[in-house]
Amino acid sequence: MGQDLQDARRIVVKVGTSTLTHESGKLNFRQIERIVRVLSDLKNADREIILVTSGAIGVGVGKLGLPRRPSDVGGRQAAAAVGQCELMFTYDKLFSEYGQIVSQVLLTRDDIDDKERCHNVVNTFARLLDMGAVPIVNENDTVAVDELIGINFGDNDSLSAIVAKLMKADALVILTDIDGLYTADPHKHPDAKRIPRVEHIDDSVKALAGGVGSSRGTGGMITKISAAEIATGAGIPTVIIAGETPQLLYDLFEGKEAGTIFCAR
Ligand code: GLU
Repeated sequence: MGQDLQDARRIVVKVGTSTLTHESGKLNFRQIERIVRVLSDLKNADREIILVTSGAIGVGVGKLGLPRRPSDVGGRQAAAAVGQCELMFTYDKLFSEYGQIVSQVLLTRDDIDDKERCHNVVNTFARLLDMGAVPIVNENDTVAVDELIGINFGDNDSLSAIVAKLMKADALVILTDIDGLYTADPHKHPDAKRIPRVEHIDDSVKALAGGVGSSRGTGGMITKISAAEIATGAGIPTVIIAGETPQLLYDLFEGKEAGTIFCAR
């Protein structure tokens, strides 16, 4: 697999909570609309799109008017159950405006680890793509307790890499609240530079990833690097770009530089 994204046909795109929601946990419609529009357009241009979305817990917290993410697992599961509906309702509405059909795929680690269930998952994805639908994937938070306490897929960054690998995607794009990997934390070091290309993910690259992300999501840069490691190890180039500029996806798939690309091995 080359690094040339121009020919990428099957693309897995991951969107994080910090991109989809405001600080309050309420949906950031402007941002979601932009993302849906670009993805619909890419799909019309004959690319297959699988969207891995976070945001269920964050959106549930916003919708329920809770002051913060519940500290107990049951509370987070309940928030996810509420938020997942709201998320899918919003995606369905917006993708429909662009003539696209969405579908919901909720996964747990067990589904991937069990050979037969995994086979069923792959078949379902394949049929959905054949039928022209956009699979929208999240972890099944109401049953996957482990993720919420930190030991299942761990986070949707890893989930997106696992889905990309499973479905033999040509590219994985992670949309987040920063436009790539930097030489240092740009919030603290204004002279930090974006790294456009990472040939090989080694300890020095991991060291650049620093700590965790926003209070609304679960990831941060380190989980994105781990996802890139899984995907690039499976021959899938991985790109990190900012969720607020999804139009960069056009540049990427026209072969131009954007964000940070992690080269496939
Ligand atoms: N599945 C969680 C949610 O939808 C998010 C996990 C993550 O942020 O990585 O809220």
